[in-house]
Order: sequence, then C-alpha cells, then structure tokens
Amino acid sequence: MSQVYNFSSGPAMLPAEVLKQAQQELCDWQGLGTSVMEVSHRGKEFIQVAEEAEKDFRDLLNIPSSYKVLFCHGGGRGQFAGIPLNLLGDKTTADYVDAGYWAASAVKEARKYCTPNVIDAKVTVDGLRAVKPMREWQLSDDAAYLHYCPNETIDGIAIHETPDFGDAIVTADFSSSILSHPLDVSRYGAIYAGAQKNIGPAGLTLVIVREDLLGKSQTACPSILDYTVLSDNDSMFNTPPTFAWYLAGLVFKWLKKQGGVAAMNSINQQKAELLYSIIDRSDFYRNDVSPANRSRMNIPFQLADSSLDKLFLEESFAAGLHALKGHRVVGGMRASIYNAMPLEGVKALTDFMQDFERRRG
Ligand code: PMP
Repeated sequence: MSQVYNFSSGPAMLPAEVLKQAQQELCDWQGLGTSVMEVSHRGKEFIQVAEEAEKDFRDLLNIPSSYKVLFCHGGGRGQFAGIPLNLLGDKTTADYVDAGYWAASAVKEARKYCTPNVIDAKVTVDGLRAVKPMREWQLSDDAAYLHYCPNETIDGIAIHETPDFGDAIVTADFSSSILSHPLDVSRYGAIYAGAQKNIGPAGLTLVIVREDLLGKSQTACPSILDYTVLSDNDSMFNTPPTFAWYLAGLVFKWLKKQGGVAAMNSINQQKAELLYSIIDRSDFYRNDVSPANRSRMNIPFQLADSSLDKLFLEESFAAGLHALKGHRVVGGMRASIYNAMPLEGVKALTDFMQDFERRRG
C-alpha cells in the first residue's frame, strides 16, 4: 500500500512504530499467550504497564510529585463535568474563558453545576480571529477556579501564553495539544486531555491534578469522575480502558525516544510554519487566525473558491492525504498535525497544495 498521511483531528494518527509493536505482540503479549486486552487490570503484568506509563508521562511533562495523574474514562467532555464536580467546593461560580467551540462546550456543561462567569476572549485583530491576552481576562473574586482551552481543535486557535494568575486555580483542557510542547504543570490546578489526539486511542482521558485540591468533590459527583476516589484507587476504581492505557504507554516510550516534548515542540513548529507559509503565499488558500493565536496542531484553511472544495478533497485523498475535510461547523479544510505526523507528511500536503493551485488556480 502506498504511504498514507492521516490528518484526522481525532481519533488521530498514531506513530507507525507503535502500531507495529502493538501488532507484533497483539496475540501473544509478554509470552502469556493472550493479548493485553484479555488480562486482569489487577494482574502484575498489567500493573507494571500501568505504572510505567504513568512514570513515562510524568517524566515527559516533568510533573511535580505534588500532582496526581489519573487515567480516566469519559473523554474531554467527561471532564467538562469532572472539573466543576471536583473543584467547585462550596463555591457557586467559576471563571470560564471562551475562545472557541470547545471552551464554549465546557461552559455549557458547567452550567449544570454552577453559574459560570464567562469571559469572552474572542477578538478581531486586523480582521483576523484572535484571543484577548491573558492580562485582559477579568477574573471574578468568588470563582472556585479558572477554566480555559489552550488549543481549540475546531477553530484552529491557540493560547500560547503560560498562565500567571497568582493564587487562582487554573484548569485547562489540553485535549488537542498535550505533549506537543513543554508545559509548566505547576501553573495549573488541573489539566485534562482526551487521549485520541496526542496520547493514544480514544477511551482514555488523562487528568493531572494538584494533590491539595482533592477531597472536595460534590456529593453528587459520580464515583468514576471523582478525582479522590480515582486517586485512592490508582485509577482502578472500576475497570480502566486497559488497551488504551497500554498503547498510551507505548506512545510515551516512543516520545521519549524522539527526544521528549522539547524535540516534539521544535518539529511541531517546523511543521506548522511550513503549512502556514504555503497557505499565506497566495490568495488561493486562506487562514483567518491572527499569527499570535495560530494553532500548531490544527490548521484550518479555506480555498478562495469553495466550489473547488470537493475536488480538493477527492484529489488529496487519492494522493494519500486523508481526512482533510474541515469540521462541519467551520467548513473548508483542516489539517491536524499532532506529534505522530512526520514533517514528511506536511511536506507531502504542501507539495499537493501547490500542485493543486498550479492546476486549478
Ligand atoms: N476538548 C477538545 C479541545 C477537543 O478537541 C475535544 C474533542 N475533539 C473535546 C474536548 C471532547 O473530547 P471527547 O470527544 O473525548 O469527549
């Protein structure tokens, strides 16, 4: 089969090396004559996998020992409820920064549990979509925490600043950018991310939570979303998504081999710069996000002549460049270029884009 590059926003491309290893050991894992999916999560073999995955994840993000790492179910959306249910305590409001689709979705879910103070951070700079700088975010006095989404997967908008809000507890949805760059975990009270973009298969969600924030979940918080319950049970209060956990562990080892998140950051920057440079080179393609807020993971672009969209998608697919169709609420195209997408994949895409423009422009 010829080389395929998968630009899906998630579930997304996984490193080929990881898939090959999983394939090789699928039917006979660790000489047990069964797959990793068929063994008890409490058996010593799986416990070792689980512990190693956590250790590697901690190493990669340099997570301080005062933080717990939880391997959860429920995806990013599960944590839209998990955050308020665990962190509101006796407060009735929290600050929610709205800079895009997913931040707004988190607000919608949070309304079930509190009265969010919504900080509308969407602005226009020189006719381009942008986000208010953090220093202009008006936090309320009585908020239990602040929530924001540093990488808006659909809008292609990123907040690259590192939060610095004194004692305020900052929580963030890193679903589409975790492990793509170094991160100062100590600036956050809680971080969460669905696995299906930069971590592994869908079904697993990682939560990093500061230990001193445990113990104040709402009485109505379902146990499977309760950080304290999960922490007390080493994320095995109920049966965890074992295969996803195992595969995430392989991805973490692969990441370490690549040089960790610092190395990924530099490759990710190169990939994004290359793609934006081709989009910006002519009026044939267009991205309307202000340079300071452009995502390095999800790059939406429009063709000036949208009647060519269908042809672009057909021809790119035939060229082995898959899943470039933009999200239904935005239209146009979107290239998601997470860690597993090699620079060659982005080169193949930009070569195709230039060729398409020559032929159809
Ligand atoms: N947050 C972000 C930033 C996302 O990109 C997504 C999914 N694309 C979600 C939350 C929702 O995640 P899930 O489907 O795992 O609930």
